[in-house]
Amino acid sequence: MTHYALRLRLDSKSLQDNWRWLQRTAGVAAGAALKADGYGLGARSVAHLLGEAGCRDFFVSTWAEAAALGQLPDGSSLCVLHGVGPEDMAAALAGTARPVLNTPAQVARWKEAAPDRSCDVMIDTGMNRLGIRTDEIGLLEGLDIETLHSHLACADEDSAMNAVQRDRFAAVAATVSARRYALANSAGICLGRDYSFDLVRPGVALYGGVPRPEADGHIRQVAFPEAEVVQRRKIRSGESCGYGATWTAAADTEAAIVNIGYADGYLRCFAGKGSASAYGKPLPLIGRVSMDLIALDAGAVPELSEGDWVTLDYDLPDAAAASGLSQYELLTGLSERLQRRWT
Ligand SMILES: *Cc1c(COP(=O)(O)O)cnc(C)c1O
Repeated sequence: MTHYALRLRLDSKSLQDNWRWLQRTAGVAAGAALKADGYGLGARSVAHLLGEAGCRDFFVSTWAEAAALGQLPDGSSLCVLHGVGPEDMAAALAGTARPVLNTPAQVARWKEAAPDRSCDVMIDTGMNRLGIRTDEIGLLEGLDIETLHSHLACADEDSAMNAVQRDRFAAVAATVSARRYALANSAGICLGRDYSFDLVRPGVALYGGVPRPEADGHIRQVAFPEAEVVQRRKIRSGESCGYGATWTAAADTEAAIVNIGYADGYLRCFAGKGSASAYGKPLPLIGRVSMDLIALDAGAVPELSEGDWVTLDYDLPDAAAASGLSQYELLTGLSERLQRRWT
């Protein structure tokens, strides 16, 4: 068997509890955004675990992601957020996933190729990313719409735009008929039940992201990167460590050289800020992050030796504050070299 020298330990119970908290908070059905391979955690496993918890509405970006999911829990619906381009039509007609139609051309394409099949539609209420403009909703005439969606631009901030988008969406919902209406992502759920409509589409909070203060203390960390000590070495006072010799030992220092780096998604912006732990004790990062290696000050952990595992500090809000990366990038950037292990 291959020995994976890097792991991403994944906590099933926290994933499921995060979904339950989001569903309870929204007070309506909660789905799950599984795009980018379940934000890097593994979309198939996430779908299976959330299916066990009761989730039945799943969202991916592309038809390739839809195909890669395989069998979903019984009674599930799967939506493809980027809709259907000309090259996607064969896959769309062959499967059961529904496109979320975003443009007038996509609407025309679906009416032409699948007049008897239901679809989802994205309405633009101000973000100007994807979606049918509110002055174009006449084009939707004749579609059998399962879920009508819109998406919030500023839900993670206390912005006046949130209520503006909600009110615009409510006005569209009053005139365009669909079986369900959905607006909120993770942050939108935290804005309150006025934003819930019939269905919510959380992503990052399922995976341990804390999108707004309301979720603090309720959302738990799911993904824990773990790496191995390749060498334990003594750095003498006055010597430096790593590329650029940016760090110099003020006193004799015991360092653990660990096999993770920017090629694994542990980026250089953690220099001077990152840390790990082992045996319940802290291991501050010293010097720069290399491609496949970092150095940790192991002075507080005399028992840490070659071949031992350390856990990187990767609580998403804290790691985002330390690194300047978003909580989303912290997850989606983790490379395939980390073996995903659900516990
Ligand atoms: C990605 C995505 C979501 C999930 O967003 P989070 O901020 O991760 O909760 C919801 N809706 C749409 C349309 C998306 O693209």
